[in-house]
Amino acid sequence: MIQPHGGTLVSKIIPEKEKQLILEDLHLYPFLEVDEDALMDVENIATGVFSPLKGFMVEEELLSVAHSMQLPDGTVWSIPILLQFREKPSVSAGDRVLLKDSQGVFRAVMDIKEIYKIDLPKVARLVWGTDSEEHPGVKHFYSKGEWCVGGEVWLLKEADIPFRDWILNPEDTRRIFEYRGWKTIVGFQTRNAPHRAHEYLQRLGLEIGDGLFINPVLGWKKSDDFSSETVLKAYQLLINNYYPRNRVILSGLATSMRYAGPREAVFHAIIRKNFGCTHFVVGRDHAGVGNFYDPYAAHRIFDSLPGDIGIEIIKVSAVFYCSLCECMASDKSCGHSKEHRIYVSMTEIRKALRNGKLPPQYILRPDIAELLMKSYQVTGAR
Ligand SMILES: [Zn+2]
Repeated sequence: MIQPHGGTLVSKIIPEKEKQLILEDLHLYPFLEVDEDALMDVENIATGVFSPLKGFMVEEELLSVAHSMQLPDGTVWSIPILLQFREKPSVSAGDRVLLKDSQGVFRAVMDIKEIYKIDLPKVARLVWGTDSEEHPGVKHFYSKGEWCVGGEVWLLKEADIPFRDWILNPEDTRRIFEYRGWKTIVGFQTRNAPHRAHEYLQRLGLEIGDGLFINPVLGWKKSDDFSSETVLKAYQLLINNYYPRNRVILSGLATSMRYAGPREAVFHAIIRKNFGCTHFVVGRDHAGVGNFYDPYAAHRIFDSLPGDIGIEIIKVSAVFYCSLCECMASDKSCGHSKEHRIYVSMTEIRKALRNGKLPPQYILRPDIAELLMKSYQVTGAR
């Protein structure tokens, strides 16, 4: 089995007996109210999804990651994991505090190491390559505030997120992979319902690996992506009706999308390594948004990392439908010129579905189209 990033799978879940003591002495602790994104990150830290991170970053870690894509010890890491506040929190370094959600439920314990202020646009330029609020990831980052609290966390109680049953942690997935006897596992990142170009990449993964791990992001996404529930249902349909079920695992990843393009591709690869994947698919414009990133920057970044990330990257160029090949293909597998190529656009698919039109079968399977259309009827505008 592939080693977790940094060598050890982090586990920071408070044992039951100890939890009881904390709950009896709640009045002894200062507390901080945190949002859903932060609670999802706490859980990802505590269950090893973000190994080797043991907590929210202190300033030294943030600066090291932002400037040189590595943690202070040299381990490759590309995305800051921060606990942000809009106003200076009234706790101090050295405090052991409780993190509670907006409903007042205590979810985690945090040992505060440092409270510091960050230059939001500067961090955005380093990580996202832009400080523009037109970028949904940057806008979301700004909205969280410039005060950061760094330090280790311990999970007390899992967040009440929808689709809990759909989420496997790295300990689970590693055990499943071992049980199934898989040696090579291809990780697939997605935030949207599957169309035929996704399917092309997934079938590629099924050819290469013993198993395919489809791991859609269930956290915050920009409003024009499909809802998490719809994405999961569509995948379930695809897997049950078309794929060899015993060669695919579907599991949600509860973290927000950052839309940080190339840097997020590295982050996504590290996470899948922690789940036990040996390979990770990076397509055209991975985790990109609008025209903010060169479509192949997310491929090139893997050639200039400050160290080895220890997972094999399957780089795939743009996939399209070729009207002469009469199938999905890429530059590498189709010899025809541009005018025969139809690129799949999720925006176009959504537009068609919203108007009650089925996209062509070679773009989107009709049964999946029907399911997606129903999601519009249920959720109205989305
Ligand atoms: Zn062709």
